[in-house]
Amino acid sequence: MKPVIALVGRPNVGKSTLFNRLTKTRDAIVADFAGLTRDRHYGNGKHGKHEFIVIDTGGFEPDAGSGIFKEMAKQTRQAVAEADVVVFVVDARAGLSAQDHDIGNYLRKLGKPCLVIANKAEGMKAGAQLSEFFELGLGEVYPVSAAHGQGMRSLIELALDAS
Ligand code: GDP
Ligand code: MG
Repeated sequence: MKPVIALVGRPNVGKSTLFNRLTKTRDAIVADFAGLTRDRHYGNGKHGKHEFIVIDTGGFEPDAGSGIFKEMAKQTRQAVAEADVVVFVVDARAGLSAQDHDIGNYLRKLGKPCLVIANKAEGMKAGAQLSEFFELGLGEVYPVSAAHGQGMRSLIELALDAS
C-alpha cells in the first residue's frame, strides 16, 4: 500500500501549490482566492523508488458553521481519516492565526502522525520567525517554499518516515 499524505491547513497557505510540487502536476487549483479547492483532490507522488498518494484539501475550519465551509470541513476530516500522515501547512509570512490554533487542536486530539510545515519561507531564516508555530504543540516546524520548490525533499522524506 502506498502511504497517503493529506495536506491540511487554512485557506491560502499554499496547500495546492505544495500538492502540485509533490505530484509534479498542475492539477490542483492554485489561486489567490481563499478556499478555491473545494473538493478533496488526489495525486500520485514519487521519490526515488518510493511512491505515495497526496490529498489536497480545501481550507479547513473545524467549527465551520454551514454551507460550503461546512462541506469543506467534512471533506478535510475525511481526507485526514484516510491519511497515514497529515501535513499541516501554515503560512510563515502571515504567522500564527486563530484558525491555525483550531486546526492544531483538532489534529493534536486526533493523534495521527502530523508534520507542521511553514510554507512561503523562501528568503527567511529559520528560527525566530518560525518559533511562534511551536505554540501549536505539534513539535518541530519545517520551513519550505512550495512556490520555489525549497525543502521538498526533506518534507517528503519526513512524511514517508512518519507514515
Ligand atoms: P491553498 O488555498 O492553501 O491551496 O493555497 P494556494 O496553493 O492556492 O496558494 C495561495 C497563494 O499563495 C497563491 O497566490 C500562491 O501563489 C501563494 N504561494 C504558495 N506557495 C507559496 C510560497 O512558497 N511562497 C510564496 N511567497 N507564495 C506562495
Ligand atoms: Mg487549494
